[in-house]
This record gives sequence, structure tokens and C-alpha cells, in this order.
Amino acid sequence: MASVTLEDTSKTFGDFTAVRNINLAINDAEFVAILGPSGCGKSTTMNMIAGIEDVSGGTIRFDGADVTNVPMQNRGVGFVFQNYAIFTHMSVRKNLAFGLEVQGVQQSEINRRVEEMAEFMALTHRIDAPSASLSVNELQKLAIGRSAIVEPSIFLLDEPLSNLDAAFRERMRSDLRQLQRSLNQTMIYVTHDQIEAMGLADRIAVMDQATLQQFDTPENIYSRPENTFVAGFIGAPSMNLVRARIAERDGVMFADLAGREADAVALDDRLSSQARTHGGAALTFGFRPEHLRISDQPDAGTLAAQVVLVELVGRRKLVHFSTGQTRFVGSFYRTVSLRPGEAANVSFDLGKCHLFDPNTGLRLR
Ligand code: ATP
Repeated sequence: MASVTLEDTSKTFGDFTAVRNINLAINDAEFVAILGPSGCGKSTTMNMIAGIEDVSGGTIRFDGADVTNVPMQNRGVGFVFQNYAIFTHMSVRKNLAFGLEVQGVQQSEINRRVEEMAEFMALTHRIDAPSASLSVNELQKLAIGRSAIVEPSIFLLDEPLSNLDAAFRERMRSDLRQLQRSLNQTMIYVTHDQIEAMGLADRIAVMDQATLQQFDTPENIYSRPENTFVAGFIGAPSMNLVRARIAERDGVMFADLAGREADAVALDDRLSSQARTHGGAALTFGFRPEHLRISDQPDAGTLAAQVVLVELVGRRKLVHFSTGQTRFVGSFYRTVSLRPGEAANVSFDLGKCHLFDPNTGLRLR
């Protein structure tokens, strides 16, 4: 086991900054996903932890010890790449045994651990097959098994499931989680797939444009996003982020979402107090599609909107609304009856809505 700490860690390639001043404290035996859009610096961060890339600034520590300049092979790190090179001329058994042989583990112990890992990875029936004959799914399992078997103190996986078909990916996800629990390793997992990150990780490090946006539990990343980037990136469909003009009438704070003062939505105490403290005339109002309701009657808490489009997605109905210049999406049970062209009084589950500073993007507290 080992904790991993990044202190102000940066990576530049010439004039280009791929990772900017990241601070991250990953606990012993924690499963952390690094999540973000393509090119945000996920792999570069991972490569610095592994020692594949040197750092341009800052410090990396394992269990408190500075490993910033320790060569890769001396860091005790296992690594599974997106396109992992298996020794295709060797059998599954040989591939699994390889790392243990390098470590000088006794043959009887090697046999036991290889068979155990083959069984865990459901590769027992293929154990003596040449790796070249494996399917893509089996190859990827072998890649993970081969790295895991040496029980590295830190296990790094860079998009290990991205080549797999959807059904198998789901299976592997739960296997990976189980593997991490049984080996009790610190696992760091790079992915651009939020479902993978949300389902697997104890905590998620969300990155965008070379910087860390939020490092938190899946629940907090979803329910309490730090800023509009995280709010808009997590969730499908993502959080609606609507420009709101804020005004106070008779001691009540209102958010005008449609450019029609008379139809502004009355805020609850929590949001009112945040808006008051901030003092800005315009804020960003954030609400998830599932936190909308349809009301029979218009009142101070509702907004008049038109239904533009209705999509059936699984057991949910996604409804696109427009009002003034504003468009937003709601997610409802299939049984909700809404048709394109209809008018609707939309209300908000205000306890789950957020206000953000429109300039910094930060969530108000
Ligand atoms: P993806 O999900 O597409 O792999 P990522 O988030 O892992 O993206 P990185 O691979 O870390 O992103 O790359 C971050 C940025 O740094 C990208 O713009 C990339 O082009 C750039 N970059 C990465 N490696 C190098 C390099 N060796 N030389 C120059 N630029 C690089």
C-alpha cells in the first residue's frame, strides 16, 4: 500500500503546459479516477506518477517519500496502458508468470498465483493458449492480470477498458473493483468515461485544460460541483446552466431565467441568502434535468415554458423546453404527458439547484 501526493506538480512540453500546478492527496488503498475530456492532461499526470514522464515543476511523494526523481523501475508501480503490449509469442500462463519470475518468486508460489489470477480473470480455460490467439477482451484481461499479479503498491490504469465492447466493459468494471478490494492496492484509473469513474472510484479527480477542477467523492462531484465546468461535464444530459437576472421584491429574491421579470422564479432561503451575499445582478442558475417538476398552475415558483422536443430514453422521457432565449432539458418518468408545442409550468427542486458566479464559474456557498 502507498499514498500518492502531488504537490504543485506541472508538466510543460516546450511552451505548452499539459498539467498545471496539480495538488492531489490520494490515500492508501484508495481507488481514484482521473476524469476529463480528451487532451486535458490525464495521461500526462498519470505518466508523471509512474515516472514515465519527468516533472517540470513540483513534487511527487509515495507514502510521504519524495520520488520525483526516482526512476520508473524503482517506484513499485504497476501500469496498464490503453494499448497494452502482451508478449504474444508466450502463453497466457507465461505472460502471467513473467513479472513474478523477474522478482525471483519460488516456482510453486508462481504456479499458485498464476492459477489464482487466471481463475479470477476467467482465463483458466485459455491458460496454455498462445496469447496471439486471444480475443481483444481476453487480451485486455490478461494485460490487467499480468500487472496485478505482482501486487504493485500502486496500480495505474490508463483507459484499460476503452477497447472493449460495452457488455464486457461493464463486467470488467466490477471485476476491477473487486480486484482492487482484494489486493487492497492504491489504484489510479484514467478515463474520459464518467460512468466508469462514477461507478468505480472512491474519489474522482476531474481535470480540464491542464488543471484540477475538483477532487471529491462521486456523490459530491454530482451533487455539489465546484464550478460550471464540473457541473456541465458530469451527468447525461448534463446540468442546465442558465443565465439569471437576480432581483429582490418585497424581501424575496427572484431569478429571472427567461428575460421576463414578471415570470421570475422565487428562490428558497438557501439560494436567496447566497444571491444576497454575492450581490451580483446576474448569476448562473444550475439545475439538473431530473430536478424539474411540472405544475398544474403558474405561481411564484414556476416558469412558463414551451415544449420543443420529447425524446424517449430508456425508462425516462427527456423534454426540451424553451422560454424567451433560454433552452433547457428536463428528465421525467415516461408517464408524464408532454407533447411538442404544449405550454408547461415548470418548477424546480430548489434544494438541489445551484447558483454560480458567471465570471469565475465557481459555485456559491
Ligand atoms: P486523451 O484522453 O486524449 O488521452 P489526456 O487528457 O490523457 O487526453 P494528455 O495525453 O495528458 O491528455 O495530453 C495533454 C496535452 O499535452 C495534449 O494537448 C497533448 O497533445 C499534449 N502532449 C502530451 N504529450 C506530449 C508530448 N510528448 N509532446 C507535446 N505535447 C504533448
